[in-house]
Amino acid sequence: MPSDPWESFDSPPRPRNRNPPSPGNPYEARRDEQAAGQRRRTRTAVLVVAGVLALVGGTALAVEWPSKGDGGVEVVAGSTVPPADPASAAATGGQAPPPAAVSDGPATAASPGQTPATVPVAPATPPGTPAPGGKPLAGKTVVIDPGHNPGNSKHTAEIGRQVDAGGFRKNCDETGTETNAGYTEAQFTLDVANRTRAVLVELGAKVVFTWDDDRAWGPCVDERARIGNEAHADAVVSIHGDGAAASGTGFHVIVPGTITAGTTDTGPILVPSRSLGDALVQAFAKATATKPANYIGTAGIDVRKDLGGLNLSTVPKVFIECGNMRNSGDARRMTDPTWRQSAAEGIAYGIRDYLTTGSGPAR
Ligand SMILES: [Zn+2]
Repeated sequence: MPSDPWESFDSPPRPRNRNPPSPGNPYEARRDEQAAGQRRRTRTAVLVVAGVLALVGGTALAVEWPSKGDGGVEVVAGSTVPPADPASAAATGGQAPPPAAVSDGPATAASPGQTPATVPVAPATPPGTPAPGGKPLAGKTVVIDPGHNPGNSKHTAEIGRQVDAGGFRKNCDETGTETNAGYTEAQFTLDVANRTRAVLVELGAKVVFTWDDDRAWGPCVDERARIGNEAHADAVVSIHGDGAAASGTGFHVIVPGTITAGTTDTGPILVPSRSLGDALVQAFAKATATKPANYIGTAGIDVRKDLGGLNLSTVPKVFIECGNMRNSGDARRMTDPTWRQSAAEGIAYGIRDYLTTGSGPAR
């Protein structure tokens, strides 16, 4: 096993193999063949000598490293030589580095911790390497919050209960809006949320819903925020449809503003939430071929301080108002399942872009 210097240390090559043949041997009759044989043997001898020197160099390496740690040179044959550094260990799959080249000699190869010049050192993991399996969101947790609940309208007392919204109190939840034809915001948000989840899962993310058509009403806004916090979400998106004046059209993303009240402090999430919001604006516009709202915000971004779901979040979070359900054009699109699929893809790709460009928080 040439790569193991200790094997050669225990069993050095026999000296006669290292001797070049004697020139001018009188007992050889065929001189042409003899000359050719000499050249072959000479080359072989040079290679053997080079190999021995190389193994001596490797042996010197092997003796030097263990002696650094325990002060002795007693090493069990077959033990591996400590790698010079983690990168070379990775490059060799955890095996001992090969002996130094003959040209470097034992003297230059014996320093502990010095990487032999001829050992290729590959970077352990090139930056930007995709996660195993090629899923860009592998290892990421995304919380999707389908706004409102179709059952809220039948539980007005429950959703009217006042809860903390970040230094002030507010209704537990709202019923949400609807199109003039009666397609409700709560129906819309759950449908788009489900479609978004499918895309995110395909991208490798772990997806958590704040509710999943599994409860009669709610949850309250403080619980919606708490679910994202307790999931240690890398990103949270609350999906909504707006109910503005009929002339208003387009989507917008709501990002948190500065709130410091009691235990509420939105400071740590302001910048990453804005990055998430910007990524969503870009991706949503592209996927749906719709424009940012013409009636609110700036270039698709609106900053608000009155939303408990944002104020109470300790992880990057935004709301997206996918359109104005009271606008005829927006309502037509939002009622169309094909457009809702595009909306879901826009949301998922925006989250993906935010999580894969390094603009997220260092946590
Ligand atoms: Zn809403």
